Amino acid sequence: MKKLLAFAITVVLIATCLVGCGGSDSKDDNKLETVTEGKLTMATNAEFPPYEFYEGEKVVGIDAEVAEKIAEKLGLELEIADVSFDSIIPGVQSGKYDMGMAGMTVTDERKRSVNFSDSYATGIQSVIVKEDSPIKSIDDLDGKKIGVQTATTGDIYASDDYGEDNVKRFENGAAAVAALTANKVDCVIIDNEPAKAYVEANKGLKILDTEYAVEDYAICFSKDSEELQKKVNDALNELKKDGSIQKIVDKYINAD
Ligand code: GLN
Repeated sequence: MKKLLAFAITVVLIATCLVGCGGSDSKDDNKLETVTEGKLTMATNAEFPPYEFYEGEKVVGIDAEVAEKIAEKLGLELEIADVSFDSIIPGVQSGKYDMGMAGMTVTDERKRSVNFSDSYATGIQSVIVKEDSPIKSIDDLDGKKIGVQTATTGDIYASDDYGEDNVKRFENGAAAVAALTANKVDCVIIDNEPAKAYVEANKGLKILDTEYAVEDYAICFSKDSEELQKKVNDALNELKKDGSIQKIVDKYINAD
C-alpha cells in the first residue's frame, strides 16, 4: 500500500513538473506574431493630413501617434509603410502588413475582405469647391465633374450616386485638389479634415456646409490575425479610456 502511495505521489510530482515546464513554454506561445518579429507594421497613405502626413522624413499625424502608443503597449516597435490607399487592404490581406491605419472608413464591402478594430474617430465626406462655384450644396452635384481619391469612400459613393463617367480618380487628395484649382474638375469629395487642410493650403477654395456622408474610422487587419486584432483593439480602448487619443486629436485638430 505504501509503495502504491509513493508511486502515486511520484506520478503527481512528475505531472506537476510537466505542467510547470509547459508554463514556461506557453510564455513563448504568448509572444505576438507579427510580420517582422518585434515590429508592428502599419500600412498607411501619408497624404492625408492631419491623420498621416510627412514632417520632413517622418510620417506624423493622429494615426501615426495612436499607432505608436498601441505598439508601445504591445512591446513592439512601430514601422510605417507608406503605400497608395488602394493597396492597403490587399497588402493587409496578403500578410504583408500587420494592420492598415489610414483614416480608413468601415464599410460593409471592406468588411468582406478585412476585419476592423473598434472605431476611434468619425469622418465626414465633404465637398470642396472653388469660392465662386455655382455648386452651392450637394443637391447641385448632378452632372458635375467630381474629383476623388481612388478607392476611397468618396470615390465609391460618388460613383454610385453620380455615375462613374462623372467621377475623376486621382492618386491622392492633393492631386484631386490641384485638378480643382486648374478647373479640371468642378469639386472634390474628400474627408473633412484633409479637406480643411487643403482649403487652408490653397487659395480660392471652400468647403460646402452640407455634409455628403458621416462615417467611422477604424484599423483593419487580415481575417487571419484575430489575436493581433484583439490585442490592438484592447490597447486602442485603453488609450480611448485614459484620454490619450483625445489628447492626440486635440494636438492635430484645433477644437473650435
Ligand atoms: N475615409 C476614406 C476611406 O476610407 C479616405 C481615407 C484616405 O484617403 N486615407 O475611404
